[in-house]
Amino acid sequence: MTNDEEWEQQCACPPPLSDNLLIAAVDGEADEETLAHLRACPVCTARVMHLRALQAYLLRRLYRLHCPPTSTLVDYCQGLLDPRALAAVSHHLAICPHCTAEVKLLQEGPILARAVGRRGRTLTPNP
Ligand SMILES: [Zn+2]
Ligand SMILES: [Zn+2]
Repeated sequence: MTNDEEWEQQCACPPPLSDNLLIAAVDGEADEETLAHLRACPVCTARVMHLRALQAYLLRRLYRLHCPPTSTLVDYCQGLLDPRALAAVSHHLAICPHCTAEVKLLQEGPILARAVGRRGRTLTPNP
């Protein structure tokens, strides 16, 4: 790849770290040699930062991909889920910070209480 050659020219202490080593660094599994390289080389450090940002982004996307829809979370808050769905949502909440935050908002927000209070009421014109 031509990209690699570019890195090679910019790296402070060539050869530049391989992709596998960079990913290991992102995961916090880099060995001493890699860490020493990163301390000395701002170019490869920048590559690790870039990969880390990318990974965080992908992780967020992945999380939301498996998330139940908001309507399910609303039902959860109101205790309307059947036991099986309830178990599934509870399990998901244990691992998903996004839905946990959403449920917290739903439970704390007065919007939900008002919506529930008004459900089913119809406006009747004054006689
Ligand atoms: Zn380097
Ligand atoms: Zn979720």
